[in-house]
Amino acid sequence: MLHIAIVGSGPAGYYTAEACQKQWGDAETGSEGGVRVDVFDVLPVPYGLIRSGVAPDHQSIKGVSRRYEAVALSQNVRFVGNVAIGRDVSIAELQGLYDAVVLATGAPHDRPLDLPGAELGNVFGSAAFVGWYNGHPQFAALNPDLSGRSAVVIGNGNVALDVARILAKTQAEFAGSDIVGHALNALAGSQLEQVVLLGRRGPHQIAMTPKELGELAHLARACPRVEPGDLPPEGDDMLLEPGQRKSVTHLRSFAAIPEAHRADRDFEVAFDFFAAPRALIAGDDGRVAAVEVERTRLDGARAVGTGEIYRVPADLVVSCIGYQTSPIPGVPFEESAGRFANHEGRILPGLYCVGWARRGPSGTIGTNRPDGFSVVERIAEDCPAGLGKKGRAGFDALAAARGLAVVTFQDWRKIDAAEIGNARDGSPREKFVAVEAMISAAGKA
Ligand code: NAP
Repeated sequence: MLHIAIVGSGPAGYYTAEACQKQWGDAETGSEGGVRVDVFDVLPVPYGLIRSGVAPDHQSIKGVSRRYEAVALSQNVRFVGNVAIGRDVSIAELQGLYDAVVLATGAPHDRPLDLPGAELGNVFGSAAFVGWYNGHPQFAALNPDLSGRSAVVIGNGNVALDVARILAKTQAEFAGSDIVGHALNALAGSQLEQVVLLGRRGPHQIAMTPKELGELAHLARACPRVEPGDLPPEGDDMLLEPGQRKSVTHLRSFAAIPEAHRADRDFEVAFDFFAAPRALIAGDDGRVAAVEVERTRLDGARAVGTGEIYRVPADLVVSCIGYQTSPIPGVPFEESAGRFANHEGRILPGLYCVGWARRGPSGTIGTNRPDGFSVVERIAEDCPAGLGKKGRAGFDALAAARGLAVVTFQDWRKIDAAEIGNARDGSPREKFVAVEAMISAAGKA
């Protein structure tokens, strides 16, 4: 019997569990096979990024959690929620209990916005801001001030697009979403009239996918704006790969929107390309009031400053410049890439990483599936048979000795049912945003 611990119950974690079943278990018949997998999460609720990262108005993407549920309900996979590895239980202890430990901890922290003024009030990283509207307990109390007229979103990736769209939507456009009540109420009182998306490079260098970018053209009150002069000659689009070409085609259509069409819109999502933020400027109240920007030009694919400086009004700033993995004491970490130091998923003997924790925050949710299968191949090469470790029985004894309030998958199903029961009309659920409320809904003390 092989005992495997997976730390993190997001896409990378569950795809790895699925790969373990395929490798050693018997997923077809549901029999237990030769593997036991424990999937740990610091929260009492599973699915990581699917619950806390994917935009609340992208419910079809969240549907992938049904696949993870099927894995979680099989006999040889167990969810072990509300346990913080590195705090409640150390990595060394897990390694003593399991034949292989796989870190699937994602990249939950923002790359730091290394600019003067980054500490000003109403400046947030995307992990915090996205966590706020998605009800992550760590960020539920963020309370961003939406009483100003102008927001600046730094970055030209899909997260920047998510944040801009959420700020631009009307209440009616959140129908069917699972945006949490506190965010919906705050957005109802928002006075924002524009979001400026700062891209330090140009339209050809955006990291936005076409489907997501195209959504901006179909918002109820908001209209996208692209300055035609920022677009490269149309013929150059042929040099792009097809997906990127489609995205740029959207930008071209935004640039062609007639002014008359904008007249009946009261919200603008404006793309400011070749615009590198240099500093955040405080207003009289000590909060952010503007972003100082340097105009750039491309030198090859690199942005270089031109020396032209200007200011963009900003009552709210959300920095969406990418994420990084949290280091764990004793686990080699590659600072520059913001991920665990690894070779093809191997960190140290018996210790592996997968997903964003392995390769950094890139790709789609589906990219994690081959990643999970690949790390399981490495484990199978290194450890073809169990080493006689105690596995879950050993963990249960340790958890009992420490008085850990472990949340099981059956407990999560109670939380799930309570959230579904609490949903406002038309919404799939109203999430609990406090760990205590989740544990209480699970019927635990
Ligand atoms: P990302 O795709 O890496 O984009 C980061 C953006 O920030 C880039 O435009 C980058 O510009 C810019 N940037 C980085 N450092 C900067 C700085 N110091 N100053 C100004 N701009 C800076 O990251 P992300 O948007 O966080 O997305 C992470 C991953 O999740 C991506 O794979 C994304 O596709 C995925 N995702 C997918 C969806 C979806 O499919 N619906 C939704 C959300 C996220 P440069 O290019 O110049 O470096």
